[in-house]
Amino acid sequence: MTEPRGAGRYAPSPSGDLHLGNLRTALLAWLFARSSRRRFLMRVEDLDRARDAGTAASQLADLERLGIDWDGEAVLQTELGAGHEAAIARLAEAGLVYECTCSRKDILAAPTAPHAPPGAYPGTCRELSEDARAAARAAIAPRLPALRLRVPEGTAAPEFDDLILGRVRGDIDDLVLKRGDGTVAYNLAVVVDDAEMGVDQVVRGDDLAPSTPRQILLQRLLGYEERGMAVAEYAHAPLVLGPSGARLAKRDGAVTLARLRDSGVADAEVLSVLAESLGLAVPGERVTPAGMLARFDPAALPREPWTWDPGVFGGQ
Ligand code: GLU
Repeated sequence: MTEPRGAGRYAPSPSGDLHLGNLRTALLAWLFARSSRRRFLMRVEDLDRARDAGTAASQLADLERLGIDWDGEAVLQTELGAGHEAAIARLAEAGLVYECTCSRKDILAAPTAPHAPPGAYPGTCRELSEDARAAARAAIAPRLPALRLRVPEGTAAPEFDDLILGRVRGDIDDLVLKRGDGTVAYNLAVVVDDAEMGVDQVVRGDDLAPSTPRQILLQRLLGYEERGMAVAEYAHAPLVLGPSGARLAKRDGAVTLARLRDSGVADAEVLSVLAESLGLAVPGERVTPAGMLARFDPAALPREPWTWDPGVFGGQ
């Protein structure tokens, strides 16, 4: 037996039940990992308390119902706080962290540098004197400052070769590492957790492709490669669109397993439709994730968004 190479993962946020788009991405992540003899890990990204809808357990149950299994227990991101803090401390020691007291409104109102990417942080708090910083902190009390990454001058935005999208370029800026309310930011947490869990393959929705250069930058600044920690390959899956042509969402009706089940659609039918959308089954064919493995070829995956047609389940 060849040694397993590393790990893939699925990292749902418990902000609601998984819809067909999420389930399709989870299936793809599983197929990528298992077809490359990786372990498959599950991480519940529950850092954002305000968006936690308490659906972690039902999300995991839905994945199991579809035959998507994972190695070990699902990990809760809120239990990984020590690693997040250690990473922020490491960046701070290297002089790569500064406090930011800007509100969203301040950021929108600030003049942007001539070639700055749209939406980039304009750098208002980057070079403040100690006195100015203390005054800014006092001015927002009791709110606390956020922490931002000080991207070293002259850093080029990392590019990467995505297994589905090909070459991806994106923008970097002084991203938030920790919000003023104490919540560690997604970009920091995902980078630290993937590295510490030994994840070397990240499969997720392509709405996150533009965040990836920022995440690769963080991996570099944290010195993961030199420290022998996993640096991932990426596959960003095209989104699923609803009948209106916009990104699939709850407003599109019965798009979760539970809602579909209520309307008389069996889990096996859902799996069959997802497999067909990935070119891994013919219409109506009953399949299992394990059965799809033999047919799975990353190079043959559809590159276009999949538009979901509610009619496939027999005219709901
Ligand atoms: N938790 C994120 C989401 O549900 C995914 C993060 C990731 O896969 O990097 O959108």
